Amino acid sequence: MTEKVKHVLGISGGKDSAALAVYMRDNYPELDIDYFFTDTGKELPEVYSFLSKLEGYLGKPILRINPDRDFDFWLMQHNNFLPSAQARWCTICMKLKPFEAWVGKFLNDGYTVYSYVAIRSDEEYREGYQSRHENLKVKMPFRENGIDKKGVIDILEYSGLGLPDYYKWRSRSGCTFCFFQRKIEWVRLMEKHPDAFEEAKSYEKKATASGSPFTWSEHESLEDLSKPERVAQIKQDYERRLERLKKQRMANPLRPDNEEIDIDDLYGKSKVCLACHK
Ligand code: SF4
Repeated sequence: MTEKVKHVLGISGGKDSAALAVYMRDNYPELDIDYFFTDTGKELPEVYSFLSKLEGYLGKPILRINPDRDFDFWLMQHNNFLPSAQARWCTICMKLKPFEAWVGKFLNDGYTVYSYVAIRSDEEYREGYQSRHENLKVKMPFRENGIDKKGVIDILEYSGLGLPDYYKWRSRSGCTFCFFQRKIEWVRLMEKHPDAFEEAKSYEKKATASGSPFTWSEHESLEDLSKPERVAQIKQDYERRLERLKKQRMANPLRPDNEEIDIDDLYGKSKVCLACHK
């Protein structure tokens, strides 16, 4: 009997998974891959336009897997306590469970499912990326083929897609109000998408009134963060870091001057979530 096989690749709206989709289409055209996007309903508009461009390149639609309930429902279930790095119910309820339910149907139907994930060769490998179901096999083509951050950017450039537009001001995909954002990214969200910033602020007000121990941004409310003097301070801090790093890079002859500087380079790597940010 022929083995029942399914290939799936999760698109987060970020650069790495998009580059992996391009890479798989170009290098393994014989594989019929289901590309999917788990939509929290709280994504940036730039993510949706990038997905449409990517669909054009892939020549097939990216399936949308929506959670059965929206963020407001899950927030209520969590007594209005905001999700946080310590209590990350958002990823579980809105990304991981919908994926498990979707892929679970194939596994129950006897399929072996190959899930392609965009861990790069310059990233730390963690056991947690492995699957817990014996017929769900995790594959990491970038890791296996030595493709690093520069390789990913090259793939997107050569394909004509380029980076998603939000990379000009924010380092990762995911919800508009993601608590993994740095302070400078909150400031930029306020400037680029004031409605989304106001929405995050109102969630936060409701949460603190309900006794939530967490604000979106560490140790400070969005109300405080958005005060003009605080905004000026955050921007100044960003500029200082940028200047410092540029000088360091100029002093290092082994690094090309035009190498992209992103927010992770300035503030250090923060936790990355496969489901939301790759
Ligand atoms: S992007 Fe951030 S807020 Fe949204 S589900 Fe992922 S971790 Fe949670």
